[in-house]
Amino acid sequence: MIYADNAATTRVSDSVFEKMLPFLRDQYGNASSQYSLGVKSKRAIEIARRQVAVAIGADPSEITFTSGGSEANSWVLRCVAENHRNEPMHVITSTIEHHSVLNACHTLEQSGLEVTYLPVNRFGQISVEDIATAVRPHTKLVSVMLANNEVGTIQPIAEISRILKDKGIVFHTDAVQAVGHIPVDVSTLGVDYLTASAHKFNGAKGTGILYKRTGLPLAPLVFGGEQEKGLRAGTENVAGIVSAGYAIEESVDVMACEAKRLKAMVESTIAGIKEKIPSVQVNGDSENRLPGTVNLGFDGVSGESLMHLLDLKGVCVSTSSACNSGKNEPSHVLLALGLTEQQANSAIRISYGKYNVTNDVVNIIKAVYEAYGKIKENN
Ligand SMILES: *Cc1c(COP(=O)(O)O)cnc(C)c1O
Repeated sequence: MIYADNAATTRVSDSVFEKMLPFLRDQYGNASSQYSLGVKSKRAIEIARRQVAVAIGADPSEITFTSGGSEANSWVLRCVAENHRNEPMHVITSTIEHHSVLNACHTLEQSGLEVTYLPVNRFGQISVEDIATAVRPHTKLVSVMLANNEVGTIQPIAEISRILKDKGIVFHTDAVQAVGHIPVDVSTLGVDYLTASAHKFNGAKGTGILYKRTGLPLAPLVFGGEQEKGLRAGTENVAGIVSAGYAIEESVDVMACEAKRLKAMVESTIAGIKEKIPSVQVNGDSENRLPGTVNLGFDGVSGESLMHLLDLKGVCVSTSSACNSGKNEPSHVLLALGLTEQQANSAIRISYGKYNVTNDVVNIIKAVYEAYGKIKENN
C-alpha cells in the first residue's frame, strides 16, 4: 500500500508511539489524582505543553489542549464572538478556510454577526490589501488559515498581522496543516490565537492545540473540573497529549530536511505525471505551497473515479479534502480558485509525509497513468 493522503491524517510516528504506550498501559493514572501514578500523568502533560510551546515560540501557559483542530477553531471563533455579544461585530475570513472555521462563521452570521468572506486569486492566495480594505470600525476578528489543506497554498500571515496591528482586532490562524511542516512561530506570525492538530504531524488523532496570547480572554469550553485551568474540563487524553508533544518536537527537528525531501518527491510526481498526461494541471500555488502537498486536475476525468481506481491499486489519495468526500459537492476551495465545477470535480490531492519513500513516486505516477487510461477508455 502507498499512503499519500497525509493532509487528511498521518500515521503515528514509531518513536512517538513508544512514548505514548506507557500511558495506555501501565501509567494510566488520572492526572488529577494526588498519588504518584496520577502525578506522573500530570507531569507528562506539562512536558508536552512545554514541547508544543517551544516548537511554536510560545510560553507553556499559552497552550491549551483540545480534542482536535476542529474543536480549537470552533472554540476561538465562538469565544471571540461571545466577548462582543452586546455590540456590533464584524469578522473577516477567507472563502478557502476549513469547514470548522467556515461553519462556525455561518452560525455566527445567523446570530447577527457580519462576516466578510474574502476571495483568493487562482493560486489560492488571499490579498493583504483586500484585508486592509475589508476592515471596518467594528471588525473584531480576522481568521485566515496559514496553509490550505486542499491545495497547500501558504498565506502571508505575518503581513496580514502587520496590517491589523494596533487596531484592536483579534487575529486567529488555523495552522493545522502548517505546524510540524513549515516554520511556525507565533511572534513572527504576529497572531493572537493559533490552532493545530497532532494527527496532522504524526501524532495521534484526537488531540488539538490552542495557542492563546497571554492576556487575551478565553471562556471555558467545557465545565467541570480544573483540567486545562478549568477552561476545558474532563479527564485528559494523556497518551494523545504526550503524542502531540513528542511528535511536534520530532517534526520540528527534521523539518528542514523533510521539507526538502517531500518537495523533491512532489516535483518529480508532477513532472512524471505531466510527461504521461500533458493536460494535467497543478491547482494552487507552485511557489508558496506546503512541501508535501499537491492538488492535480485531470480535466474530463472524475477525481472520484481516479481515487477509487487508485484505491484498488493500493494507493490512498483524496479528492480535494477528507471533509468534503462523500458529499458529492465540488470543493469550495477549488471553486474559490476559479475552477469550474467540472474542473473541481476532476482533481485529486496527493500529500506525502514522513513514511513515504522515494520509490512511492514512480509507483504513484504509474498507478495514476493506468487509472487515468482506464477511465479515458470507458468514456
Ligand atoms: C484537519 C484540519 C482541521 C481539523 O483538525 P481535526 O483535528 O481533524 O479536527 C482544521 N483545519 C485544517 C486546515 C485541517 O487540515
